[in-house]
Amino acid sequence: MRHQSLHTMGQQHGRRSWAEPWKIKMVEPLNMTDRPTRARALADAGYNTFLLHSADVYIDLLTDSGTSAMSDRQWAGMLLGDEAYAGSRNYYHLEEAVRRFYGYRHLVPTHQGRGAEHLISRTLIRPGDHIPGNMYFTTTRLHQELAGATFHDVIVDEAHDPESLHPFKGDVDLAKLAALIDEVGAEQIPYVSLAGTVNMAGGQPVSMANVRAVRELCDRHGIRLLLDATRMVENALFIQEREEGYAQRSIAEILLEFCGYTDGAWMSSKKDHLVNIGGWLAVNDDSLFEELRNLVVVYEGLHTYGGMAGRDMEALAIGIEESVSDDHVRSRVGQVRYLGELLTQWQIPIVRPVGGHAVFLDARRFYAHLAQDVFPAQTLAAELYLDSGIRSMERGIVSAGRDPETGDHKRPKLELTRLTIPRRVYTQAHMDVVAESVKACFDARDAARGLRLVYEPRYLRFFQARFEPL
Ligand SMILES: *Cc1c(COP(=O)(O)O)cnc(C)c1O
Repeated sequence: MRHQSLHTMGQQHGRRSWAEPWKIKMVEPLNMTDRPTRARALADAGYNTFLLHSADVYIDLLTDSGTSAMSDRQWAGMLLGDEAYAGSRNYYHLEEAVRRFYGYRHLVPTHQGRGAEHLISRTLIRPGDHIPGNMYFTTTRLHQELAGATFHDVIVDEAHDPESLHPFKGDVDLAKLAALIDEVGAEQIPYVSLAGTVNMAGGQPVSMANVRAVRELCDRHGIRLLLDATRMVENALFIQEREEGYAQRSIAEILLEFCGYTDGAWMSSKKDHLVNIGGWLAVNDDSLFEELRNLVVVYEGLHTYGGMAGRDMEALAIGIEESVSDDHVRSRVGQVRYLGELLTQWQIPIVRPVGGHAVFLDARRFYAHLAQDVFPAQTLAAELYLDSGIRSMERGIVSAGRDPETGDHKRPKLELTRLTIPRRVYTQAHMDVVAESVKACFDARDAARGLRLVYEPRYLRFFQARFEPL
């Protein structure tokens, strides 16, 4: 197994490979397609990988959201669903797991992450407020904007540079945050929106030193610090690997310490927690909790299920515990790194260091001859599907949307195509197939012409937009 190159670095003699800490008990057959079939499917989907039928996809790297394989213990938990409308025992198991591993006092369950984002944005934001955050995330920022706030990116500059090898490209730039507080005033900032392993920056982590410093700055101004904990477990691994003093600390210990600097968190359990649906919001403040618990009944469901079935909450409670296992996290991030290192060896431009959940192809450098207005990252996702049936996703100008004021495209510095690895789903051989297909597209890069936008929905346009080849 070529995992060797990753997990036994420094031991050149005596080959000792390292493999996944699980074995396969059930398989799902995949559909193999030929190129003419894929060309038809792609045209029908308007060259948007979100609009493909999954039956036409061979290796699905669209997202790591809700695509994890559950363990036998989680499946067993599904049969222990207590489907009572109120006070399900599975809810109390979930509450206990969140308290134990994340440390927050109060839990509000939601159907998925954006349900939690909606509740927290609506409760804390007043029209005209400002929200600083370490780079935007699509649904997070939209809920903040719909509640009347203006989002401000206060991430370090290195995050916008795909070639910078800064170990914590998710860090908040404290000077940028302090300048914003000076400019708009602390009373106009209901909270700082901090995300673990910043998705849009390429899955880049935040250091413990940085969260501690952000906490201090927030304390000085009486501003809340809230965490998007969606991929905090992966963030904890990077702290363990890269930050002084944490090499001997477990993922669970690091997670608990990090969350301890924040006042609450929202969570898309479809990521770290190894379930197909679910999420939550958790806070320490009693009166804020009162309000949230009241609002959840309006938008999600009763406060002891929040849109989830009892069985979903049970699988989630078990998934939380599995997600903080050091072996699991190492294997998960190790697989992503394996793919990234293969592409790096072949000199294919990717965002480095390789992030926690995905390899991000740098479409700007990949298609150096294409202008951002012809959607290079979207083009690359289409070409990759055509080549091999691998499904990826655009994270560039299409995802960034339009400026609400001017109506023009927002033009992000990063123009990326994301190969997102589901947890516990694909093998190393799948990663080899992916790398070889990316290489084939790279070798044929000069022939790519780009795309033209022919249909554009109003919100989160990347999900449903349609294109035509130029
Ligand atoms: C997926 C995601 C969300 C939204 O969660 P959903 O479960 O998809 O609604 C929020 N923040 C981050 C960082 C995410 O990756």
